[in-house]
Amino acid sequence: MTWRVLATPRTFAGDERAEQLLQEAGCQLIRNPYGRLLTEDEMITLISEIDGIIIGLDPLSERVLERATRLKVISKYGVGLDNIDIAAATARKIPVAFTPGTNSAAVAELAFGLMLDAARQISASDRQIRQGQWGRFSGTQLWGKTLGLIGTGQIGQQLALRARGFEMPILCYDVHPDYSWAERMGASYVTLPELLRRSDFVSLHIPLNSATHHLIGGAELEMMKPTAIIINTSRGGIIDEEALYKALSEKRLRAAGLDVVECEPPENTPLAQLDNVVLTSHIGAHTSEASAAMSLLAAENVVAALQGGRPKFVANKEIY
Ligand code: NAD
Repeated sequence: MTWRVLATPRTFAGDERAEQLLQEAGCQLIRNPYGRLLTEDEMITLISEIDGIIIGLDPLSERVLERATRLKVISKYGVGLDNIDIAAATARKIPVAFTPGTNSAAVAELAFGLMLDAARQISASDRQIRQGQWGRFSGTQLWGKTLGLIGTGQIGQQLALRARGFEMPILCYDVHPDYSWAERMGASYVTLPELLRRSDFVSLHIPLNSATHHLIGGAELEMMKPTAIIINTSRGGIIDEEALYKALSEKRLRAAGLDVVECEPPENTPLAQLDNVVLTSHIGAHTSEASAAMSLLAAENVVAALQGGRPKFVANKEIY
């Protein structure tokens, strides 16, 4: 029996064990033929011949799933499931597996890097030097400053660990607070408005869904200190970008570090015109260690489902 497994992420199988596992299970690996994010129409063209998919950020909508007549498993390479129509997959009894924890250290370290860069204008200074200038920048320190974590799941907790080394007091907000972790960390859960008012750095670590879309809008940005820095390594849609642009350009907020934007890749985002914004191209999970761990678990999840078992982590358990 040969199963056809499409892997869309460009960094899939940096670790050869993932590819080997698929081969040994009788899977034919089909790689993303475009070397970039696939469009919905490209997904539709490819999906009808596919038994399993290892998916990155490409759209897996109802329109795509309608054509997925052979599809037996969706295996997310990562944890953010907002590009997958889970209800449509559930209606077709297709498990949606994912890889929690495999990239949390990588994303937390990028969030910390964005905090440092936004606070000390590292990228801005680098840009100036390349243009022949030797500018002077006056930044702000992280040491002892309050960090507000919105979301204390895998990534939020990893960031808290790193912030402890900078002696940053930690405020948290989460719909499912983890009080025993907070006690161990010396962190405190507060309401979202209190977190926004009191934090010097605010970092987002929650999923994008209907409850979190534009969770941070004009009113929330208004609550933040004018000296505060906001970091987003979750999903662009969680922040209202127009409101963010306004707050940053009017200097009602010191700076932002963004690994994600609402439309990726962005087309002429005005945020890129601002010197107090540091942008990266959704690279949070892209370390060799995280890619290897995500590849292996994503492959294990596909093989488990194709062989009639249950993947280790499934978002729509109700199908069983
Ligand atoms: P997680 O599931 O471990 O943690 C998410 C936390 O958010 C949970 O504690 C949950 O209770 C909380 N939460 C959910 N809805 C909430 C709401 N409405 N208000 C407040 N809290 C809420 O996930 P994680 O591994 O920490 O990842 C978090 C997000 O980071 C992912 O959903 C994904 O979108 C994003 N991500 C980005 C990258 C990247 O490359 N930049 C990589 C991995 C994950």
